[in-house]
This record gives sequence, structure tokens and C-alpha cells, in this order.
Amino acid sequence: MSERIHTMLSTPTILDNVLDSVGNTPLIRLDRIASQENLKCNLFAKVEFFNPGGSVKDRIATRMVQKAEEDGTLVRGKSIVIEPTSGNTGIGLALVCAMKGYPVIITLPEKMSLEKEVTLRALGAEIVRTPTSAPSESEFSNIGVAKKLQRLIPHGVILNQYENINNPEAHEFGTGPEIIEAITRHPTSERPSSGKVDCFLAGAGTGGTLSGTSRALKKHNKDVVVVGVDPKGSILAQPSSLNDLDGEDSSYAVEGIGYDFVPQALAYSVIDAWVKTTDEEAWVAARQVMRSEGLLVGGSSGSALAGTLQYLKSQEGRKNFGDVEGKNVVVLFPDGIRNYISKPWFIHSLDAGGPSTLATQISQVLNAS
Ligand code: PMP
Repeated sequence: MSERIHTMLSTPTILDNVLDSVGNTPLIRLDRIASQENLKCNLFAKVEFFNPGGSVKDRIATRMVQKAEEDGTLVRGKSIVIEPTSGNTGIGLALVCAMKGYPVIITLPEKMSLEKEVTLRALGAEIVRTPTSAPSESEFSNIGVAKKLQRLIPHGVILNQYENINNPEAHEFGTGPEIIEAITRHPTSERPSSGKVDCFLAGAGTGGTLSGTSRALKKHNKDVVVVGVDPKGSILAQPSSLNDLDGEDSSYAVEGIGYDFVPQALAYSVIDAWVKTTDEEAWVAARQVMRSEGLLVGGSSGSALAGTLQYLKSQEGRKNFGDVEGKNVVVLFPDGIRNYISKPWFIHSLDAGGPSTLATQISQVLNAS
């Protein structure tokens, strides 16, 4: 059942429970952005905030819990789910576990938003905050504290998204096939289409989204180009010289992508190229998505779009995709603005560029009256 490919529901239906609403997210054309950026290719976004917990990570949470129940790792009435996360995997797990009746403890770095913490509490999870500056391998990091809790709490289980095969597989058997199905079976406009997925871009945290989706896409089109987007300050991009900081600070505000170690879920062999993005580029791009396409995306979606535009405007990206009519380029937007409403970057981005012409007009007419 978990490997089934969902099809778009065209008629109102009744689902057995919330878990059946995970996945099957829409692929949405970004025609306004493509035109603003002078791109001739088709630009699509796989928009993951449509998942019930609000992010792409609902997919892996559902699959990891289901498979752990099947192999006996999780036992109802006994097991306690513990997971270190940047928030979204925690929300996905808390949602699945609320329904199935498992208690949940989430270890979350201080950097992650209050909105994620409140959502986790709404779902009944217990939260332990950990210092953002603690290196991942330290006992004080969210990973270190989760391991300690597992040692101390009887029947504690860490499903471990960093190493769990069901993380990339949720995308290999879900996200990837959904994108292929949409592109090959459901043309949405009169514009030319190669009929294939030609280029796919996504940010990397655990790397599960990028690696699993890539495996599915490469089975469908061996020539697809898969590009990873990594924030400046992280070490995931290859070649590693891309990660040089020239003395700059390694901290960054965007949540959910980038690491100080390479998770096992990240398969470099299926990723063809990498681009690096800054916080500022992410905020500008997220605002562009909201204001031009009406999609209320989170910060890492801004990074993904900034990386996409950077790649499509590079010499190689232009020649192969950006300047070629009919090429299908898909970028994945992992979560939505619900997670970041109180974040300074979001509030400041609303005023970026100064008052609009309409705002100026409003002041003038009100002052004159
Ligand atoms: N963006 C956000 C907001 C996330 O929470 C995550 C998951 N950490 C990602 C991107 C990256 O996803 P993945 O772990 O599959 O690489």
C-alpha cells in the first residue's frame, strides 16, 4: 500500500484518516516567475505545504512509522518515538503518532521557529530545545540529546531520518513518481513540452528528498539533471571547494537545509550538480513566489528557487534548459509560511523594496482628504 502511486482525486471523496491525505501534492506552473526571469523552459513547483502537517516530511514520517510497525520496531502501547529534527519531521511524526497513539519526544535546535514548537505541542509532542551551536556529533546537539533520551527512557525508539532507508524511499516511491505522472500524463497548457522531467532541483537537509526523487527520475529519464541546493555555511555541496567561506560566519537562518556532516540518506551518486545560496537570496526568492504566484512558501523554498534561478542562468543551465522551449524543470518547495510567520526575516521581507505605489497613493488620498 505504501508504494502505491497516488492519482489526482478529481471528485470529492472520503479518506479513512488523515494519513491518506499525505502526498499527491500539486505540481504548479510558475509561469509569472519564468517570464520575469526570461526563461523559455517550463518551470514547475512541487508544492509540499499541501501535506496535512504542512511539509514534505509528512511523507517520510508516514512511511518510517508504518515500516517500523511492520518489522516490530514500534509496538503500540509500549514504544515512545524520539526524533532529532529541524521541526518538520517532528511535526510529521507527531501527526502520525497522534493518530496511532504513540507518545513523541522531539529534540529541536534553538534556531527553529516558535511556530514549529507550537505546532508540535498542538499535536501532543514533548519538546526538548538544544543549542544551535552544538556540533551534530556532540552530546548536547539535538542528535546527541535524542540518543541520551533513548538510553534513559525504556522503550524509546529513534526512527533516525538521517539513516533510515524509508526516508529516501518515501520519495523514490512517492514524490518522484507523482512528478513523472503529472509531467507525462497531464499537460496543463498549450505550451510545448518534452514530455519528460528534464531537470529537478531541491534543497538538502538529510538529502532524502533529493536522493529518493532523483532515483525515480533517473529510471524515467536517464538524462535528467538533478541539482542540489545547499545554504552557505553548510558542507553538503560537492565539490567541497563550493563550501569555502572565506572567513565568513558559518551560521545561517534558513531552516531545514544544510548540515555540518553528510547524512547517510544523501546519495551523491545520483546528484549531478550543486549550487550554494545565501539567506538574503532565499528571502528575496520566497517573496517573489508569494507575490508573483500566490504560493505561501517557507524559507527553504526561497533557497530552492534562488538556486534554481542561479543554475538556469549559468552557462550550462541556460544552454540545456533555461533557453530551451519545452524543457521541463521542476523545483520542490518543502514547506509553507505557517512555520515562519513570527520570524524577523519574514516580517522584514514584507517591507523590502519600500512602500508600494498603492501604499503611497493611499497615504496621499487620506492626507489630502
Ligand atoms: N526544507 C525544510 C523546511 C525541511 O524541514 C527539510 C527537512 N529537513 C528540507 C527542506 C530538506 O529535506 P530533506 O531532509 O529530505 O533533505
